[in-house]
Amino acid sequence: MNFSELGLNPLILKAVETSGYTEPTAVQEQAVPAALAGKDLLVSAQTGSGKTAAFMMPSLCRLVEPSTVKGSGPRILVLTPTRELAMQVEKAAATYGREMRKLRTVSLVGGAPYGPQLKQLSQPVDVVVATPGRLMDHMERGKIDFDRLEVLILDEADRMLDMGFVDDIKAIVAKTPATRQTLLFSATLDGVVGKLARELTRDALRIEVARKEDPEAQIEQKLHFFDDPSHKMRLLDALARDTNLNQAVVFTATKAGAEELSEELRDRGFLAEALHGDMPQHKRTRTLDRVRTGRTQFLIATDVAARGIDVAGISHVINFDPPRQAEDYVHRIGRTGRAGRSGIAVTLVGFKERHLVRNIERYTGQSIAVEIIPGLEPTSKPRPEGPRTSKPWGDKPGYKGKSSFGGGGWKGGERAPSSAKPGGYKGNSENKPRPAAATAQPAHKPKRAERFW
Ligand code: ADP
Ligand code: MG
Repeated sequence: MNFSELGLNPLILKAVETSGYTEPTAVQEQAVPAALAGKDLLVSAQTGSGKTAAFMMPSLCRLVEPSTVKGSGPRILVLTPTRELAMQVEKAAATYGREMRKLRTVSLVGGAPYGPQLKQLSQPVDVVVATPGRLMDHMERGKIDFDRLEVLILDEADRMLDMGFVDDIKAIVAKTPATRQTLLFSATLDGVVGKLARELTRDALRIEVARKEDPEAQIEQKLHFFDDPSHKMRLLDALARDTNLNQAVVFTATKAGAEELSEELRDRGFLAEALHGDMPQHKRTRTLDRVRTGRTQFLIATDVAARGIDVAGISHVINFDPPRQAEDYVHRIGRTGRAGRSGIAVTLVGFKERHLVRNIERYTGQSIAVEIIPGLEPTSKPRPEGPRTSKPWGDKPGYKGKSSFGGGGWKGGERAPSSAKPGGYKGNSENKPRPAAATAQPAHKPKRAERFW
């Protein structure tokens, strides 16, 4: 399909075509015509599928005609969970709206000074991109009204709920006109998100873009076991020296951990910087700029801070601390392999953290290959158990299988024959050794070891 078939206003079409996009993504194909027709939408599609343009392009089309209502408040409001995402969305609005005359966009995010935001709100504004907390502050001070609001967009709605924004969202929505169009985007439309989605929309069209066979086909996933913190650091050091690593996001569990690790990496001579929620906004923006321009090679980040980061140069995601939530794993590894590029996601796990990996595998339906760097083999051995007879993630969503490492059995660090697969495991392309041409070999040529649970 061609962009010109979507029914977009020529001004938007021109801007999109000059951004170098050749054809709409699947979610754009489905969402844009429906949004242009004024429908409410509930959309779920995987990370990197082009959802921002899917809601921004049709919404901007409304602004080509002047508002029929008097006032100075926004005609489009986008709610996002994080400041970084808000800034990306605002940038997208400016990009797709660059052919329009005098498009005014404002982002109202926490952690930034109020002064400039208030100044921007003192003039008429077309698009507001906001995090719920800060928007509430402005609303409570009477600094923003929604008399002219035509479209309300909730981006990453599931994440906003995870972050506890549900009451703020409801309070914000209550102040918007009932005539508004509502577009809700979320990784999932089940459970609480589905409930909220039904409350906020009217006769909504549900669009679920199926994952192509393999959700992260472009991302090679690997696992390294460590014995203790010093072994973990040596593994990270070796991974960081991989000559195929262009840029990496390294995830830590805590903000303090991000600071410490970035310092440690700098001491070891790497260009590393931390990114987390305790940093003032201007510092975060500067850090991200340095990542974008390649001046920083390693971004050491927490989950929330790294949400939505979209930098083409990021070849690796390294989970220095494994994510506690399986959803976070998917969001983390989505920082690499952007826009059709390939990427590598490496997770470092202690033997006591094996259950986290099992949860992730169950959630993604993919198994993660265990790798060993020669000279840095773990010495610990997991407790052997009987052979596994079912898929690690089970068939039912509520699967609560007893821990069942074992399978072919861990053989004291010995390399298992490549044909040895745990019982019931259905091989997928992620675990088959790849031809050298398809994935560049890391400098240290890690060996593949048998999985041991
Ligand atoms: P999502 O919100 O679904 O995770 P984004 O909207 O952030 O994804 O888009 C991911 C990347 O794909 C961005 O770099 C964006 O510029 C790019 N992109 C979006 N639409 C297209 C398209 N039609 N063709 C090529 N690249 C696109
Ligand atoms: Mg998005």
